[in-house]
Amino acid sequence: MNVKIIGFTPKPEKLPAMAAKLTHSKSKPEDLNKSSDKELKGILEHVMSLGHTSVIEHTSFSFAISDVSRSLTHQLVRHRIASYAQQSQRYVNLNEPNYVTPPKIAKNKEMKKAYDATMENIWKEYNKLLDLDIPMEDSRYVLPNATCTNIIVTMNARSLLNFFELRCCQHAQWEIRQLANKMLKEVKLVAPTIFKNAGPTCKSKGICPESKKDCPLYPK
Ligand SMILES: Cc1cc2nc3c(=O)[nH]c(=O)nc-3n(C[C@H](O)[C@H](O)[C@H](O)COP(=O)(O)OP(=O)(O)OC[C@H]3O[C@@H](n4cnc5c(N)ncnc54)[C@H](O)[C@@H]3O)c2cc1C
Repeated sequence: MNVKIIGFTPKPEKLPAMAAKLTHSKSKPEDLNKSSDKELKGILEHVMSLGHTSVIEHTSFSFAISDVSRSLTHQLVRHRIASYAQQSQRYVNLNEPNYVTPPKIAKNKEMKKAYDATMENIWKEYNKLLDLDIPMEDSRYVLPNATCTNIIVTMNARSLLNFFELRCCQHAQWEIRQLANKMLKEVKLVAPTIFKNAGPTCKSKGICPESKKDCPLYPK
């Protein structure tokens, strides 16, 4: 799995802070730019602590995500407050086997052997269909959830906070959790105030809606 930020709103923390200041100011929006960085940082910290997160919708991040499974992206695109562009299985010939192996399968030699053989067989059948002039859009029906794919996602910071609460949680599926943690690590580097407490709700809010007391992160 590869995850990289490929674009974000310039001044990702200054802009939401200016938006927050605007709500309590007689100044025109364009003059808020003159506020000191220290004042704006303080305002942003304050609104974040209050949970008034609508202002961080002004900041967005775009991620390039590659070599993840279609299982992962099926879950990812359920997050509606986002924009996506995904490699097409109608227009891209995926004739070479390229798939994700879950770690629990990878660590068992026998299982891994059977898994790889199944994948090889699936791709053999896929290529057979293509050879019979079945279009890619139909041949792809035999491809598995494990098939590798590439996707670009853009989310605003508020939507990302929701995404991290749901998908950094120990109860999220391992692959999308891995993705969420990598995305969180990246955004923290460019917007540390916004994402200071980001993560599963046990971190962001000190609560566990799952009520799973056996979880190592369960709030004490
Ligand atoms: C551990 C886990 C297990 C899951 N299991 C399943 C499952 O078995 N089956 C399944 O179908 N899904 C499952 N999901 C997906 C889940 O139900 C959500 O669809 C997904 O997490 C997207 O979350 P979201 O709606 O908060 O995000 P977004 O779509 O990005 O929405 C963000 C927020 O905007 C608001 N919003 C967005 N659209 C609307 C709307 N139309 N009306 C009102 N408010 C809206 C809501 O407040 C929402 O929280 C699972 C998710 C997790 C984390």
